[in-house]
Amino acid sequence: MHILIAGAGIIGTACAHALLDEGHTVTLIDPDGSARRASGAPSAGNAGWIAHGDIMPLASPKMVLQAPRMLLDPLGPLAIRPAHLLALLPWLARLAWAARPSAVEASTRALVALQTRALPLWLARTRALGLDKHIHRRGGLYMLDTPASVDSARAEIRRQQQEGISVDLITADEARQLEPALRDVFAGAVFHADAAYISDPLWLTTALFDAALARGAVSRRAQVRALAADGKPALLTDDGVLEADAIVLATGIWSKQLAAGLGDLVPLDTERGYNVSFGGTTGLISRPVAFKDHGFVATALDSGLRIGGAVEFGGIKAAPNHKRTRALYDSANRFIAGLPAFESGELWMGFRPSLPDSLPVIGHSRASNRIIYAFGHGHLGMTQSHVTAALVADMIAQRSSEIDLKPFSAQRF
Ligand SMILES: Cc1cc2nc3c(=O)[nH]c(=O)nc-3n(C[C@H](O)[C@H](O)[C@H](O)COP(=O)(O)OP(=O)(O)OC[C@H]3O[C@@H](n4cnc5c(N)ncnc54)[C@H](O)[C@@H]3O)c2cc1C
Repeated sequence: MHILIAGAGIIGTACAHALLDEGHTVTLIDPDGSARRASGAPSAGNAGWIAHGDIMPLASPKMVLQAPRMLLDPLGPLAIRPAHLLALLPWLARLAWAARPSAVEASTRALVALQTRALPLWLARTRALGLDKHIHRRGGLYMLDTPASVDSARAEIRRQQQEGISVDLITADEARQLEPALRDVFAGAVFHADAAYISDPLWLTTALFDAALARGAVSRRAQVRALAADGKPALLTDDGVLEADAIVLATGIWSKQLAAGLGDLVPLDTERGYNVSFGGTTGLISRPVAFKDHGFVATALDSGLRIGGAVEFGGIKAAPNHKRTRALYDSANRFIAGLPAFESGELWMGFRPSLPDSLPVIGHSRASNRIIYAFGHGHLGMTQSHVTAALVADMIAQRSSEIDLKPFSAQRF
């Protein structure tokens, strides 16, 4: 079949490889060629974790209780731009609904199905393409500030262990033996021994994109304006109409309007994330470190140290507020000794494409089972890229998948 993939971020690029494996002809359509940092495409600037141990959705009863207090701090880990509040209300209502214990359990089960398949597929893909030097496996640390945070981490650890994830509660001293630059201010830490991280999200997304072209995929620089499902599936682009046997829509946050044009009103919004990168700074830490109580992470990418995270609801048009990045850096300074000066870092903001139940959309459009959606991966798109691609390949082949796809349907809302 000839398949058009709209969007060449990490999801579209991973899909290209899975479809090339099956002998299809693949064209990737993206105005930027592949994801670029300047557009805010998160595939080009994320934190680089293959965080396959993260199986809990964002929504939880505890989160609903804590959120109002967090929102009081405009530079804190969770913020809403006042101008975006009205537009966000339906999303927030769904988030609150997704925080019911039964809904949290359903999202957790669906996340487990994706997450536990994520790393093996990443390893297989990078090995097959000779890109395995981009994957590092030194485990990941989640630092905990207080005895109360240590206590509340226990339930999550039990659940992760039940799901076969390698994870242990360790003391703050043990964590500092692993990462001596951490200051002596923690109550404990969670260690994921088999967590992985990548060289640099832009480098690896670009390397996978180039590898897809080397395998015969074609890149076309064009912007998709709409999709058509009458007759042969087609993309209406600023460079003309492109028809194909099937289409994959993988345009991250920009998928919302395109899916709406086909009658799928998906409650996709963006959790804007910020980071500062210190190119060339290596060796300060040697594995990913998350500061759980503060909503940010530090990653020792091959390209340099990156510090970032946090969530800001502000839509896709508002300019970045890098006071937030400064606040993240100031927090990081309290936890890591020897950081380079803030002013020497490169600032970035990107758009996580997020759904209120923390599950992506991986499924057919309402209008045609030849138009397949693959977007909305929120905080975990880098991690879930190749498992998503495998499921998309199953759908194109019209074969049943290893996992139940109902929780990921666009029509679940
Ligand atoms: C600060 C931050 C840190 C993160 N850290 C991690 C992490 O450590 N681990 C992890 O697993 N995930 C992480 N994520 C999430 C992850 O980056 C995203 O879930 C993932 O990159 C989404 O990929 P995507 O391909 O769906 O979308 P995108 O990266 O947004 O790519 C979409 C592509 O579509 C193209 N496009 C847009 N509109 C059109 C159009 N109309 N026509 C054609 N093409 C179009 C864009 O140019 C872009 O190239 C993080 C995100 C942020 C913001």
